[in-house]
Amino acid sequence: MPIRTLSDDLINQIAAGEVIERPANIVKELIENSIDAKATKIEVFIRNGGVYLITVKDNGYGIYEDELLLAVKRYATSKLNNNLSEIKDFGFRGEALPTIASISNMRITSKTNDQKYASCLEIEGGKLKAQKPSNIERGTLVEVSSLFEKTPARLKFLKTNRIETSHCKDVFLKMALSHPNIEFQLNIDGRKVFDFKTKKNGNDLNLDRLSASFGEQFISNSLDINHEKYGYKLKGKVSFPTFNSSTSYYQFLYVNNRSIKDKRILGSIKAAYSETIPKGRFPYLILFLELSPLKVDVNVHPSKAEVRFDNEREVTSIYVSSIKSEISKLSEPIYSKIENKSTNGIFKKNNSNEINQNELTNEISSFAKDNSFDKFSIEPSARSNESTFSDQELDYPLGAARAQYLKNYIISETTDGIIVVDQHAAHERIVKEEILKQKNNNKICSQLLLIPEIVKLPALQLDLILNEIDTLKTIGFEIEVFGDDAVLVRAIPEVLTNSNIQELIGDVAQELFELGSQISIDEKIDSIISTSACYGSVRSGRILSIEEMNALLRKMEITPNSNQCNHGRPTSIKLSLNDIEKLFKRR
Ligand code: ADP
Ligand code: MG
Repeated sequence: MPIRTLSDDLINQIAAGEVIERPANIVKELIENSIDAKATKIEVFIRNGGVYLITVKDNGYGIYEDELLLAVKRYATSKLNNNLSEIKDFGFRGEALPTIASISNMRITSKTNDQKYASCLEIEGGKLKAQKPSNIERGTLVEVSSLFEKTPARLKFLKTNRIETSHCKDVFLKMALSHPNIEFQLNIDGRKVFDFKTKKNGNDLNLDRLSASFGEQFISNSLDINHEKYGYKLKGKVSFPTFNSSTSYYQFLYVNNRSIKDKRILGSIKAAYSETIPKGRFPYLILFLELSPLKVDVNVHPSKAEVRFDNEREVTSIYVSSIKSEISKLSEPIYSKIENKSTNGIFKKNNSNEINQNELTNEISSFAKDNSFDKFSIEPSARSNESTFSDQELDYPLGAARAQYLKNYIISETTDGIIVVDQHAAHERIVKEEILKQKNNNKICSQLLLIPEIVKLPALQLDLILNEIDTLKTIGFEIEVFGDDAVLVRAIPEVLTNSNIQELIGDVAQELFELGSQISIDEKIDSIISTSACYGSVRSGRILSIEEMNALLRKMEITPNSNQCNHGRPTSIKLSLNDIEKLFKRR
């Protein structure tokens, strides 16, 4: 085939692959245009997940009748003055409208202050159909319908209406949060879902928008960040270390009011929380960084969700130092040092993976220096005492429980060694396998709650849970819709009785969010059970009696896969007699 230049239509459709993956991207581009047009009120309407219809209406300065055609032309923009380094608006590439127009039917109606009538432009699949006078107040109304009709591959890629709707909601909330002085309304399938008024005074975060995005509890469980240094301004809220989530979903970063994604910044924030937050958990946060537009490049990707900083180190240090200083002001001791202690003992390994004997020798000699022998009333004696331990369970594979270490590790003795069991990880596995067994035998034991519990959830999580009501039912959860922003939990799997239902459902919702919907139903069920199992199992930190420990060991022995926790880590390790003798140079 000869080489030829692609038609404008095709170019736009190709660009759409980069910028418009799903309806939510359109919602974002249109709201950004309204904000750039200095609107003080923005109304968004969505039907059938946005595939059937997306409408964004604003009261901004509008588009002149004779410029309407230009607005839908590629690389036509009113926002850039031949200088890419001074971008103050959201838009600057002049791509959104032509791209959207190429994959939908679009109608733009607009009126400026000095026009008598509005003008309306109609485009079908990128082709101009008509331009005619219309009648609206000052502002712009963009209506996008029949999305992706011409690009069926894209249409197939879309998720259910509910999921697409929740992505749209998500974008809407992110934009509304960063523009407290603009009124925002969202209408979904004919129902007004959000009606955010502006705050009377100040630019601060609006509490109703915050609780719609992060849940009400975030507000009373967060610290204010307000920090200025080297010309950077950082403002917002971060959660107490104790208020954390199993995913990074609730981490909203903005740079010059643009919602961005930045793994490096999030990584350094995690470091700022360091040991205050348990492994695998994430703080909730919403942080706005302001800096000179000259110090940041927003033209990294067409979707403008990534940015590049001139001085990345300076930027991350702003986040880290401000969060660290706020956390250090918390009066309560908020973390235990268990992690340090457990690595300082004799089992700390050096690089060659051998147990470091010198360290133990040093530890003992410094202990001897500080303590005199007569401090202890019982002296070691060569005479034997009757053992208080029962030897009955010694022959079991996991042996007889003898002690608990750090309220989390069961130490047991077998005929040929010592076993250390992580009680929480092990029990989590047992609970998971129990649910799986019941499910596979079609004998799910569900526990009806005496008083059904109402669990409030943020928009996206709520939709994900509602979408999976039937899946959840197969493992013993009975859940119903409850109003706009909550579910009613009527029953939970029996093995999870006494769980904290709020946290349980919240974590399941977040697990669903993490998984996306690309995975099979079985994988989904598996992950939900893994997450839930945590709630039905003994926590680390619980003191167990010898009988309880033995019961757990016996259960482990008859549970499939019990040597691995639900996250793939080992649940027990063994030091054989052979190993012990080698260490003592008896062999
Ligand atoms: P960009 O935002 O990058 O300039 P778009 O394709 O999104 O590109 O929009 C093209 C132009 O159309 C904008 O530069 C602006 O002049 C005009 N425009 C788009 N939407 C609106 C709106 N809601 N109000 C006023 N003008 C608008
Ligand atoms: Mg734009």
